[in-house]
Order: sequence, then C-alpha cells, then structure tokens
Amino acid sequence: MEPWNIRSEKEAPSHQRMMLKLLKYLWVFPVTLIGLLAAGLTAITGGSVQLIRGAIEASGGFAEWIIVYTLRRKVSCMTVGHVILGLDKDNLARARSHEHVHIRQYEKWGLLFIPLYLGSSLLARLQGKRCYRDNIFEREAYAESSGELCRLPEAHCSELQDSQSTNRCEWRPETCTSGGFARRTPDT
Ligand SMILES: [Zn+2]
Repeated sequence: MEPWNIRSEKEAPSHQRMMLKLLKYLWVFPVTLIGLLAAGLTAITGGSVQLIRGAIEASGGFAEWIIVYTLRRKVSCMTVGHVILGLDKDNLARARSHEHVHIRQYEKWGLLFIPLYLGSSLLARLQGKRCYRDNIFEREAYAESSGELCRLPEAHCSELQDSQSTNRCEWRPETCTSGGFARRTPDT
C-alpha cells in the first residue's frame, strides 16, 4: 500500500513532482521533527549539520554521542525521518545510499515505519534469526545499496567480531588490519 504511485510520479509534470515531494516531507515530518531536535543538539555541541540530497546530515557532537553511548556503535549512522545522524562525515558518505533507502521507507510508511521496523526485528528474533540483518527493512536497504564500501571503526574491531550479527557492515576480520574496510555482500 503506497500513498502514491511511483511510476506516475516519475511521469508527472515538474510541478506535480514537487507537490508529491512536499507531501512526502509532510507525511514524514512527525518523525523528522525528532531528527531535527537531534540535529539542533548536534549543532550546539560542536557537530556538523549539512543538507545533502534533500536530507539533513548531522555528525559529531550529540549525533556521535548518541551512536557511541546509546547505540554502543552497533551502527555508524541512523536515519530519523529526513535526518541522518552519523559518527562523522566519512561514515555518513559511506552509508548515504543505505540511509536513503530508509528515507524512502519512511516516505512510504510515515510514522508507521517505526513500529513496523521494530516489529520486523522482533519477528526475526522470535524466529531465531538476527534481529538487525534479518529485519526486512534492513535487508531491502542492504540489497538496494549493495557494493557500497563502509568502514568499521578500527578501535572496535575485536568488539565487532564478537557481535558480527548486529553491525551494519558485512564483517571480515582480515580487513581489520588493513584499515577496517569491508565490502558488503548483497543479501540473497
Ligand atoms: Zn539500515
């Protein structure tokens, strides 16, 4: 169930496309508001806030703090409506394609995306699968942005090896000593 037809959106005149885009921003805005609060806190705590590809990207400062201390670096970036929070600009650049798939998911489901996402993780866990990588929204995001390079924090190599089912990159221990770069393999 989509609130609009993607095919007709592409074929629509420019003013209609702009109107549809605006409606998507409004549809997601209740969630974006939370992201904007985080972006504001990032700005006043010395972080970076910039507008790229129609999304606000915030890194460092509060954004880094919330990923390090609340999410314990299980991810390097997270999307909250039309706001992407990241550890730093490098991680934002590497995860951009993936996070924009999540933005499209928000644009499809609006506020419902959050309970659906959590429900999918819970279902995966109940089925004995990985709650992050087997979440259907993550599978879609990884499949659509496959081949993208992502970098795991060097200092957390051993930690991530221990929790490989939960981090966003396909973990390859041998890449740890060569800078921690890992190439994701597409989901099947
Ligand atoms: Zn994701």
